[in-house]
Parts: sequence; C-alpha cells; structure tokens
Amino acid sequence: MPIFNDTKVAFADKSDAQLRKAYWMFKMIEQPALTSLGTSVLNFTVHNNFPFVTGIVKSTLFEQFCGGETREESMKVVKQLFKRGVGSIFDYSIEGKEDEETFDAVCKEIKDIIRFSVGNPAIPFIVFKPTAFGRIDLYEAVGKGAELTSSQKEEWARVVKRFDEVCGLCHEHNKKVMVDAEETWMQDAADQLCEEMMEKYNQEKPIVWNTIQMYRTGRLKYMEENLQRAREKNYFIGYKIVRGAYMEKERARAEEKGYPDPIQPTKEASDKNYNAGIDFVTNHLDKVSAFFGTHNEISSELIMDKMKSRSLENGNPHIYFGQLYGMSDNISFYLSDKGYNVAKYLPYGPVKDVVPYLTRRARENTSVAGQTGRELGLIKKELDRRKK
Ligand SMILES: Cc1cc2nc3c(=O)[nH]c(=O)nc-3n(C[C@H](O)[C@H](O)[C@H](O)COP(=O)(O)OP(=O)(O)OC[C@H]3O[C@@H](n4cnc5c(N)ncnc54)[C@H](O)[C@@H]3O)c2cc1C
Repeated sequence: MPIFNDTKVAFADKSDAQLRKAYWMFKMIEQPALTSLGTSVLNFTVHNNFPFVTGIVKSTLFEQFCGGETREESMKVVKQLFKRGVGSIFDYSIEGKEDEETFDAVCKEIKDIIRFSVGNPAIPFIVFKPTAFGRIDLYEAVGKGAELTSSQKEEWARVVKRFDEVCGLCHEHNKKVMVDAEETWMQDAADQLCEEMMEKYNQEKPIVWNTIQMYRTGRLKYMEENLQRAREKNYFIGYKIVRGAYMEKERARAEEKGYPDPIQPTKEASDKNYNAGIDFVTNHLDKVSAFFGTHNEISSELIMDKMKSRSLENGNPHIYFGQLYGMSDNISFYLSDKGYNVAKYLPYGPVKDVVPYLTRRARENTSVAGQTGRELGLIKKELDRRKK
C-alpha cells in the first residue's frame, strides 16, 4: 500500500457524519463556478452579519478548516491533534485590512499567542504574515530602494518595530516564529527584515524562520547567499519551504507590467526546484533548519528518504513537516505516527474575519484544485472501508 494511503489512521478522529460533511464541502470547492459565486455571496452575507449564514458557515467550512473563533475555543482542536503527536500553529487570519489600528491589533494578538503558548509543546511555532504588520505598497517601495517621504519612514519604522517586538518576544520565551511569504513585489523588503531578525535572534538557535517559495525562480541562489552570510555572521537559519500560493496573480501582474514571469514555467519545474530545496536543507543541517509546508506526498516521501539516507532520526529537531488543518491528514498522522515532527496551521478568529481567508484558499485553484481531488478520494475510500 502506498505509504500515505492509510485512511483508517488519517480519519481516526472523524465520525461518519463529519466525513460526509467534509466530502460534501470538498465537492462544492471543486466547482470553480460555484466557488466563485459562493465566495461573493458568502463574503457579503457573513460580513453583514446574517446570523443564519454565519451559523451554517461555522458548522461547515469553518469547522473543517479552523480551530475556533478564539484561541481558547481552538484549544480543543490543539489538544486533539497533540494527542496524536501533531502540533498546532495558530494562524490569526484577518486579511485585506491596511490601517495602523489593525496592524497594531494583529501585532498585539500575535504577542498574546506567544505568551499563551509559552512552554506548551503542542504549539511549537508562532506565525505571522508581513502584510499583517504593514501596507503592501510600503514593502514594495522599501524593497525597490525608493526614496521614502518622512511619514513613510515613520510608517516603516513601525513595521520594523512590530517585527522586532514579535521576534524579540519569541527569543525571550524560546518560541520559534515563522514569517509567511507573499507576493514577489513585497518580498524583498520582508526578506531583508527576516535576515536582520535572524542575525539578531538566531545566534544560539533558529528562532526566526523565513519562508521560501520554490515556485519562484532564483530562490536557490538566494538561499545560498543567505547561508554564506549566516556563516560569516555566525547565526542559524530557519526556513519554511513551500511551493507558493500566488501563481495566477504573479503571472497576471508580470504580463500586465511587462516584466519576466518570476514563477517557474511549469508545475514540473516547480517540483524540481522544491526537491532541490530539500537537498539544500539536508546538505546544510549544521546551519539550516526547515519546516516543509506541503501537501505533496512525493515531496514528503522524498524528505523522509533523504533523512534516512543520512541516518537522521525521524524526530530530528532540524526538520518539520507541515500541513493545513482540515487537509492532508493522511500525511500528517502517518508522519506523526512514525515520530517525525509535524505541525498544522490552525486558522482561528471571528467567522466574519476568517471567511475572506477561507474563500481565498478555495479560489486559488492551482494550490487547491489537485488537493481537493485527493481529499475527496481519501474520504470516499474511508467511507467505503467503514461500510464493509
Ligand atoms: C503549512 C503550510 C504553510 C504555507 N505557507 C505559505 C506561505 O507562507 N506562502 C505561500 O506562498 N504559500 C504557503 N503555503 C501554500 C503553498 O505554497 C502551496 O500553495 C500549497 O501548499 C500547494 O502546494 P503543495 O506543495 O502542497 O502541493 P502540489 O499540489 O504538489 O503543488 C501545487 C503548487 O505547485 C505550483 N504550481 C502548480 N501549477 C504550476 C504551474 N503550472 N507552473 C508552476 N508552478 C505550478 C504552485 O505553487 C501550486 O500551489 C503553505 C502551505 C502549507 C501546507
């Protein structure tokens, strides 16, 4: 049996009714027209507090992909996952708001998560998005080296301060923190900030982890340059290695503005690059630690093989595997069962704030399309198995 096909293990915590509901939901997500219409209707109705719709969303999409409306409410899921050896990474998902008040509020929430999770091994990482702390246009301007006005300089200083407060607090409490990667046009400034934070806080061990999107061209070179700098300045590197979630947007913008497409030309090229990322990490474990955020079974198996060929124990502290809550439980629980380090992103927050995040996930076809088919196949297999 292919290794990640044990649906009995994958869905041990799910009742038949929960599985049927999940099946129905993935079926809906699979229909692009429905998803598109559904997302507009959903965003509108939930945002405008139609209690009936909010209730339905809460017991369907929200229950499948989120921990709860608050951290406390989400602890039930955290405990359930940890019982099976899987960690949780609280993902506070307010999207699309770009004002200083929201940036400060999110920063405060992230710091509260850090304090909330001190000493709790069920929550091994903290995570945040750079654009949760500052405007995307500002990141772009800083990354391009544009001349900033004095008010923009002050604004940027506040972004740096938010990064520094979160990374500093993680350092103080010995918590690892991952910084998500976003659009290429804002990423240079975010990378720069992550490098500064790594130099400051990763002197003894990797506390700050940046995200590398392997669907981008030129990322291996970037990692090599980083490694050289880390060796010179004597600090450790932490990376989350993903394929990347913004392909359609990246290609459309590159075409519109007439610059070279920053994304690998094909899926195969992205896969090859991802594998090269696995090699890079496993070749430099003295300096580099990595969290492989992927739902790809071949990649996951390849990482296991590389670890084996280097005689690394499954629970080697430099290597983590990660999936999103509500997806790829067949990979997560298989790996945790075998003693690998695994953690899942666990979005939480008020239903109306999380819906834009959930619908974005559904809309991004290339990152969800293949996955939806895989989830449906697995759920069906388990339901059939239970009937026998
Ligand atoms: C725990 C976790 C954290 C994540 N954090 C981030 C993050 O910080 N930033 C971020 O951008 N994404 C993030 N992602 C999403 C991730 O980048 C992928 O979009 C998603 O996981 C699907 O890729 P895969 O490796 O799981 O699966 P696969 O199904 O094997 O790969 C799908 C991916 O392949 C690439 N691809 C598909 N078609 C093509 C094509 N024609 N040409 C080139 N490439 C193609 C795209 O990246 C697509 O998303 C995260 C995912 C996880 C599980």
